[in-house]
Amino acid sequence: MAETEFLLPDPEDPENGPFWEATARGELAVQQCGSCGRRRMPPRPMCPACRSLEVVWAPTSGRGSVWSFVVPHPPLLPAYAKVAPYNVVVVSLEEDPAIRFVGNLVTGAAGALDEIDPVTIQIGEKVRAVYCEVGDVFLPRWVRA
Ligand SMILES: [Zn+2]
Repeated sequence: MAETEFLLPDPEDPENGPFWEATARGELAVQQCGSCGRRRMPPRPMCPACRSLEVVWAPTSGRGSVWSFVVPHPPLLPAYAKVAPYNVVVVSLEEDPAIRFVGNLVTGAAGALDEIDPVTIQIGEKVRAVYCEVGDVFLPRWVRA
């Protein structure tokens, strides 16, 4: 299966583009308020804490822990049905646990989505981001730390 059958983000999107530029460099970056310094993700134009429109993109450690996970089963979009069942993890960022990313737990950047047996996934286990080139973007995925 060509991985480009997956739904992919637009790396040219003005709001999200810096995130995809960072993943292409092997970094997990989040928006940070240019006024009060609060991190936020997903990207948005205004700080929810101080309403500033000043934004910087700050790299993170790329480390986190599994906050939750699910195992999708069909019916799914065709590209996803072909690899189901697979895991989808929600990862809480080490520096700011309120920031969470949705992705897949794999054994390496190019690993298959169904290569980890979901029964082995533990809430709270430490993970780190890896970056898998799919189409025009580098998708963050997660490996055990
Ligand atoms: Zn702020």
